[in-house]
Amino acid sequence: MAGNLDHEVDAYVASTPASKKLQEEAKRFLPGGSSRATSYYDPYPFFVDRAEGNYIYDIDGNRYLDFMINATTYIVGHANPTVVEAVQEQAARGFSYSNPTEAQVRLAKIISDRVPSVDTIRFTNSGSEGTLNAIRLARAFTGRHKIAKFEGGYHGGHEYVSVSVSAPASKLDPNGPNAVPEWPGQPPSVVEDVIVLPYNDLEGSERLIRNHKDELACLIMEPVCSNFGYLPGKPEFLQGMRDLTRELDIVLIFDEVQSFRLSPGGAQEHLGVIPDITTFGKIIGGGLPVGAWGGRRDIMDLYDPSDGPPVVSHAGTFNANPLTMVAGEETLKQLTPEAYDRMNAQGGMLREKLNAVFGELEMDAQVTGIGSLFGFHFTSEEITDYRSTLKGPKEMKAAMFTGLLNEGILLSFKATGALSTLTTDSEIDTLVDATRVVAQRIRD
Ligand code: PLP
Repeated sequence: MAGNLDHEVDAYVASTPASKKLQEEAKRFLPGGSSRATSYYDPYPFFVDRAEGNYIYDIDGNRYLDFMINATTYIVGHANPTVVEAVQEQAARGFSYSNPTEAQVRLAKIISDRVPSVDTIRFTNSGSEGTLNAIRLARAFTGRHKIAKFEGGYHGGHEYVSVSVSAPASKLDPNGPNAVPEWPGQPPSVVEDVIVLPYNDLEGSERLIRNHKDELACLIMEPVCSNFGYLPGKPEFLQGMRDLTRELDIVLIFDEVQSFRLSPGGAQEHLGVIPDITTFGKIIGGGLPVGAWGGRRDIMDLYDPSDGPPVVSHAGTFNANPLTMVAGEETLKQLTPEAYDRMNAQGGMLREKLNAVFGELEMDAQVTGIGSLFGFHFTSEEITDYRSTLKGPKEMKAAMFTGLLNEGILLSFKATGALSTLTTDSEIDTLVDATRVVAQRIRD
């Protein structure tokens, strides 16, 4: 396998000399040449010149069909003309102010009209800030301090969610989920205050939640687990988590930073399970930095400053900045029910065709996902939780990712991707055909 990966890497290096050179320069000023864990991959990432629609161009002049779309963000394509126009028009009137604008009211209305769980919403500048604030809010509302999350679940880069996200198999307790710090020096109190649960295991999760019920402020979870190749939770599991948290007065937070792209009302509407609080990011800012969290009015009212000091303060220089607000508004306006139906149908077709390719080639591989989201796995065992995603040879995802780059296609380096409203059936076939070619190259 290593030989096949080397072959793909050699071909990539041969086609990206300008990126290779710039990476050397970048390493002098940025650790590893990078500012973001997810934008680096071995041997170095290509540096971008520009992007338009579903295509991204590197500084060597290579063109890639982009299914990464900045971690699912560009749902109406890169540099969407209507979004660009709205941002330009706003930029000419100022980038941000300390006073509010009508644009934030319009975007808040669109989201709360669409999302079943959202009465009111607060904006911030990243999905991480969204989940951080949602957890703080749940603590203030319940007066409890522990949180529950799922093994393998990613909710951003802050301390309390940085437990058992990408733990290596060697650190996993065979008897069930254990809290594994993500890096050295995390305060023991952080690790102790996070209860880690097994995804899609209703009984196991219920037992742990009941054991800690008097200390738990919230359960934060993705209804569709991004890190597991966009694996949706089983219906009885999601409903079970809803019923249990309601019974125990634990705030249920759905992290929809990625899954909000499944229907106008997000995964919660698509799957029919409604949380207390929802966190957002990515598409709601139209591609500019954004995060948000919203939900039940009685919980969100803890921020209300209009009748004395709020119970919880939430500040931020660029919160609800009008550039992001208008970009988000123009993006969501293009996301009609028909647009979701079309993307979701194309996603179903893509997953079916990719699985058929792996069947044809008799490879231990599969594609999971839901709606317009998909992820490759190189095992034929059923994917249900974090531990099942660790099965199969580790280098295969890197080989598929690099091989597809060599075929002019960009996925995430975890071999996952997303469609946009601009995706055509022929682009789907381009990905399927390229997957067949790369799979044949790397399978032995
Ligand atoms: N939650 C989920 C599910 C995510 O996928 C991400 C980012 O990829 C985040 C939270 C954090 O969002 P951001 O990168 O904007 O901080």
